[in-house]
Amino acid sequence: MKDLYSTLGVSKDSKAEDIKKAYRKLARKYHPDQNQGDAKAEERFKEISQAYDVLSDAKKRAEYDAQRAYGERMPRGGGGAGGDGGSGGGFGDFADVLSQMFRRQGGDGGEGPSARRSATTMRGRDLEAEVRVSFDQAMAGAQVPITIEQRVTCETCGGSGAKPGTSPRLCPECHGRGVVGRDQGSFSIGSPCPRCGGNGTIIDDPCTTCRGVGSVTKRVRHDVKVPAGAKDGTKIRMKGKGEAGERGGAAGDLFVIVRVTPSSVFTRQGDDLLLDVPVTFPEAALGAQVEIPTLNGRVKLKVPAGSADGRSLRLAGKGAPKLKGAGHGDLIARLKVQVPGDLSDKERAALETYADMRDDHPRAGLFR
Ligand SMILES: [Zn+2]
Ligand SMILES: [Zn+2]
Repeated sequence: MKDLYSTLGVSKDSKAEDIKKAYRKLARKYHPDQNQGDAKAEERFKEISQAYDVLSDAKKRAEYDAQRAYGERMPRGGGGAGGDGGSGGGFGDFADVLSQMFRRQGGDGGEGPSARRSATTMRGRDLEAEVRVSFDQAMAGAQVPITIEQRVTCETCGGSGAKPGTSPRLCPECHGRGVVGRDQGSFSIGSPCPRCGGNGTIIDDPCTTCRGVGSVTKRVRHDVKVPAGAKDGTKIRMKGKGEAGERGGAAGDLFVIVRVTPSSVFTRQGDDLLLDVPVTFPEAALGAQVEIPTLNGRVKLKVPAGSADGRSLRLAGKGAPKLKGAGHGDLIARLKVQVPGDLSDKERAALETYADMRDDHPRAGLFR
């Protein structure tokens, strides 16, 4: 069986502090950033991380020690000539032991050593919530507090589930594996350990606050950082803000969905903002400078002479902040020519004079 202690170059009874020191030194040396493209270094880095993941956690270390002691007592398997294969029965190799220890981790898994949990822990549930923000908040970005009722680590026992001053002990029946099976050939055959209920540990003296669970339900306030440019439906992941894990397992994530109250003047089209700009007939016909709102205050828009109703004028970079990448979309000002319905006699006369002066045939194209 491979030795996690020798992987880190420490002795079996090293203090946590020395293990940490040794790990740091090795991790620095073999870190992928320092050894780009070096597969061997990467492999070594993985081993070091895995070893540290176990040895840095008092509970996991105890389990590992128990596994190791157990493994040494077992006879090595018969058939195989090379000791490396591990398939020849008996205890299998280090990888089997590790995979067994971590087999019970819930959910997505495979995120690397840090995602691994021992048999005794369980990752907390992911939670989902919504926040509602105004259009202006979505454009500028905002910090929005929300309160959620969720399971959090019990403060009395620090999540262990054991009464302060006591600690859970490794289950003597399954040696922390959480499963029992007489067949030594494979670890995957076995049933949940009846003694510990599959937890791998036994709590003799449960914490009275959480009744041994390690977590309690509480109302928790989160400050949600809504990014500038957030859209209706944008999902924000708050890592580790979900429910507490069981018996020291990692917390789940909190996913917050942003709901944006639409603006009364701007319509969002991707990263562009559409703005309907009412103009009078004289403004559209003669041209004008008109004032329009933007996200950063008012600007003057030049309406070219002879603009038809519905004409779109693009103001580059005055749109919504881009959620991905830098910069802004455009502001598209769409002209809406207004037709007055409340003409005075004098105005009517003026328009009639105007109409008499024109020789327009706007519908000529309809008949051919
Ligand atoms: Zn507790
Ligand atoms: Zn057990």
